[in-house]
Amino acid sequence: MPDTSTASVPAASPPGDCPHYDVIIIGAGMSGMYQLHRLRSLGFTVRVFEAGGGVGGTWYWNRYPGARFDSESWSYGYSFDPELLQQWEWSEHFAPQPETLRYLEHVADKLDLRRDISFNCRVRSARFDEGAGVWRIEWANGGRAQATWLITAVGPLSAPTMPTIPGVADFRGEAYHTGTWPHHPVSFAGKRVGVIGTGATGVQTIQEVAKTAATLTVFQRSPNWCAPLHNAPITAEEQQRIKASYDEIFERCRESHGCFIHKADPRKAMEVTEAEREAFYEKLYAEPGFGIWIGNFRDVLSDRAANDTLTDFIARKIRARVNDPALAEKLIPRNHGFGTRRVPLETRYYEVYNQPNVRLVDLREDPIERIDATGIRTRAGHHDLDMIIYATGFDAVTGAFDRIDIRGRGGLSLRKKWAGGPRTYLGLQVEGFPNLFTLVGPHNSATFCNIPRCIEQNVDFVTAMLAELRDRGVRRAEPTPQAEAEWTAHVNETGEKLLFTQVDSWFMGINSNVPGKQTRTFLLYAGGAPAYREKCDEVAANGYRGFALS
Ligand code: NAP
Repeated sequence: MPDTSTASVPAASPPGDCPHYDVIIIGAGMSGMYQLHRLRSLGFTVRVFEAGGGVGGTWYWNRYPGARFDSESWSYGYSFDPELLQQWEWSEHFAPQPETLRYLEHVADKLDLRRDISFNCRVRSARFDEGAGVWRIEWANGGRAQATWLITAVGPLSAPTMPTIPGVADFRGEAYHTGTWPHHPVSFAGKRVGVIGTGATGVQTIQEVAKTAATLTVFQRSPNWCAPLHNAPITAEEQQRIKASYDEIFERCRESHGCFIHKADPRKAMEVTEAEREAFYEKLYAEPGFGIWIGNFRDVLSDRAANDTLTDFIARKIRARVNDPALAEKLIPRNHGFGTRRVPLETRYYEVYNQPNVRLVDLREDPIERIDATGIRTRAGHHDLDMIIYATGFDAVTGAFDRIDIRGRGGLSLRKKWAGGPRTYLGLQVEGFPNLFTLVGPHNSATFCNIPRCIEQNVDFVTAMLAELRDRGVRRAEPTPQAEAEWTAHVNETGEKLLFTQVDSWFMGINSNVPGKQTRTFLLYAGGAPAYREKCDEVAANGYRGFALS
């Protein structure tokens, strides 16, 4: 795919040269793009610094084969521009990555965003100068800029992590991480391909690679509970209906817990007979999207007995779809119930294992010993490979912050402050870091959301706040210690009610490949988007209560 940037890397600034803006935004993904548009429309001077060569964030970087939405396309796009909604036509109910990137490039063109974005600019530090009341940022080649307000739009899943397996650098074949997939086409035809990782990304990759690879070896450490996506093209009739009902679509999303089109069923799993329960699960399993996960009985993610019934149903489905019973058992998770980690949506994923060219290595019984020049050595033997694909995930939510040296008042390091788990106010600000806003940051409803819906809420909140502070002549905003402590306690409380806080996953800040990320700490906000929005509205209505303003 061609590089779409129009602005090149700014040259390193001469000593003393540090352009000033009202606002600096880090990241030109969906949140950074919308934030730029909103603030610029209000007359703020804004500059965006983006590590990639084009707009799109997640959809710019994740070009791996099979990458596509798990949210319905028509519930995912920006909702703020009625003209854009009528103009853009999604081709499939769950659009593939190239189409989503085209969409975001179209938005950048339509809103003329690129003129205020510096591409290929990886911000490496951000320091608050207390005396001057400004944030100074520095990017990788030594360029600098400063602003009164700093907004991070760095995304929750944007810091890819490689496995800490000995010998990764020794492999002489092709090697790719899904989160930094190359821009040139990659062919699997006739090749012996190995994939490490079976999360949402691995599942999408495996389905695709299995179509053409000579052999595909999947190295699975933990199976996940997957459910069918049931994707389909959007017909002309559906297109018309979608365009005519955007108001209802977004209203429905607003009302649901995670802003998806799927809304939890008001019944509890045990309130109905076994036959009714089974019929309901069958219905959801046959429907597109996340319905089986978040449109299910309202207690399947919080009550173990209820969850067991669903888990048992999905296990039976896996057994029915995989021909080899012993292999089916390996694909069935044993250490967590359905939906307590992010559910990968799949298209004939389980059937892939019925193909003669596909093999599963269960790393629990046959662990990887090392990677060498020609492949992967496990305890039981050597796997000769032409290509290794690392679908090993991300240092989630806080990882992208950790990769920037962010210093607040008195040189306080954000990395250090969050070492024992994030502490935030509304998932949008941090005590000790005045004038810093963290869109889609930890403890923010956007981290467990049909993300553009929550991005728009985050951006609208920050925009309204900055506009009001400008009107009031306020130049500094920072949460009070009490507001931060109360919000952090509330966030943890919302998590306690859910089964997924009892399971290791990126939701809980676990990443086996990153030192210090082996202890569970709740990164999301589980109170639901409607409650989060209500809280933000109340804070705004009360003059931004909880923020110390000066
Ligand atoms: P992930 O869910 O964290 O999965 C990483 C996988 O790599 C896991 O199977 C993990 O095994 C394995 N792994 C990591 N280190 C390993 C090692 N050293 N040895 C062997 N295996 C190792 O990451 P992801 O699949 O990239 O997904 C992250 C999130 O991105 C998803 O949950 C989802 O929110 C988002 N996503 C969204 C879409 C979409 O909307 N369509 C698509 C893809 C991803 P363990 O489980 O044992 O750690």
